[in-house]
Amino acid sequence: MDAIAAAQALSEIGYLLRQQEKERFRAKAFSAASWSLALERPDVERLARTDSLTSIEGVGEGIARVLKDLVDTGQSRYLNRLREQMLQPARDDESVLDLRDYQGDIHSHTTWSDGRATMLEMARGAQALGYKYLGITDHSPRITVVHGLDAERLLAQSQEMAEVQKQVDGLTLLQGIEVDILEDGALDLPDAVLEILDVVIASPHVKLRQEPSLMTERMLRAASHPHVDVIGHPTGRRPGSREGATYDFELVFKEAAKHGIALEIDCDPARLDLSPEMARLALECGCSFVVDADAHAPAELAYVPMAMWMARRAGIPEERILNFRPLSGLTMVSK
Ligand SMILES: [Zn+2]
Ligand SMILES: [Zn+2]
Repeated sequence: MDAIAAAQALSEIGYLLRQQEKERFRAKAFSAASWSLALERPDVERLARTDSLTSIEGVGEGIARVLKDLVDTGQSRYLNRLREQMLQPARDDESVLDLRDYQGDIHSHTTWSDGRATMLEMARGAQALGYKYLGITDHSPRITVVHGLDAERLLAQSQEMAEVQKQVDGLTLLQGIEVDILEDGALDLPDAVLEILDVVIASPHVKLRQEPSLMTERMLRAASHPHVDVIGHPTGRRPGSREGATYDFELVFKEAAKHGIALEIDCDPARLDLSPEMARLALECGCSFVVDADAHAPAELAYVPMAMWMARRAGIPEERILNFRPLSGLTMVSK
């Protein structure tokens, strides 16, 4: 067993625990340990042999026991029990996704909005992971608390991007936006602005508890917008703390599929949205996907290797996930 396989098992444990009110603290500990494994990629087999798994940051005695079981037997009895208990079993029709084929992340934030790192730092992080491309998708103006970007600031950002691009060999930066889906389904920036960007991710952030029929109308409008490439974290849920929006998922997913708009699996441990069950429904509706970290710092790019189990669980094959395509195969860039 390698560190990434172990990280994914711990990530799933964190995810299942998060859904139990009393286990929220333990859930965070498992997610943190998973993150640490995905970042540092230690030789877990050697550490298990020498009884030193607790030398991994964030791994205490309890998590070390789970890890030891994973390394020794290839599975975790604790995880299996949780899956049973939470009625979210593993499936025999999961897809095979090779992380080495993952080409790049298209959803990330910088200090231009609420990110904690500069564009150059984010670009270097992606470059270190061997990514071929990175989408810089800061927030739109509506999110005033984070100083969202209007046309003027996007122009200034594109000038910085040209400079940063010169410093990161082998990585292509894509300029994008995470544009808010307003309450009536309109987007938070004019078409003329969206049109010139490489990547447009339309996300629901506020008023998620709208009445389902209104929410359906709102999402249908976004899922048929000519400049939208991706619907970001499509329900807006935060497992264990905030229920996501409720709408006619099948109708919206089919609309997105019809317009070639991909749905996101946002790998932030606090989101994990779409869930494997919802992603499976979207797959059946004919959708494509992006699997992104929604990173606000370079280390958060590691959320993708942690959470790739979700796309596997949903049975999504590589060819339906845009991040497994080379830059030239990204439909949005030429759209
Ligand atoms: Zn968002
Ligand atoms: Zn985001």
